[in-house]
Amino acid sequence: MKLLDFLDDPTLTELRLRMGARLVPKFTRLEIPELLSAIELSVLAEEGIALSDLDLVKVENDDTLSFKGYRVAIYIRDHGLVRDEQTLPAFHVAFCPTVAAMKDNKRLYRYAVTQQEDDHFVMNWIGDHTTQFSQRLTVCQRCLSILKWDGFDLIHMSKEEQFSILFSFALNAYYERYPKKL
Ligand SMILES: [Zn+2]
Repeated sequence: MKLLDFLDDPTLTELRLRMGARLVPKFTRLEIPELLSAIELSVLAEEGIALSDLDLVKVENDDTLSFKGYRVAIYIRDHGLVRDEQTLPAFHVAFCPTVAAMKDNKRLYRYAVTQQEDDHFVMNWIGDHTTQFSQRLTVCQRCLSILKWDGFDLIHMSKEEQFSILFSFALNAYYERYPKKL
């Protein structure tokens, strides 16, 4: 069925003008920010929310990362290669070059965003069967460098100093400096 465009009708247009009626502006879609439900918030605070890409992860002015108004850490949750806990990638708390590449690699991995405060993260090994387990991860050194965490410097600092800051990093201290709610 073809819809009539009444604006093409000169009689109706004249009538409208005589009445002094203005045209209604075209409807535009309102951008309503997505909010997290209470359940999502509790998942975010514990095992984290799985994401297939990082489009919803925003970079704040202080270079930290946020998800729907909440600061988060991000990490790769699903691993399909040979299980090797020594080579697991770090988790991220800032917009470092690795995170920039992750944001470009759409749907290459399955990620998770989390506000948990301990350093054991929920992970999946994808083989014949998916096995879920908890694994300790360290924070990304490039993120520490971006945030200058405790003066962390990848270039002008000795390895000993770097490791000392790296291994003393704690997520609860991170959220004290960068509050969870934006
Ligand atoms: Zn990083």
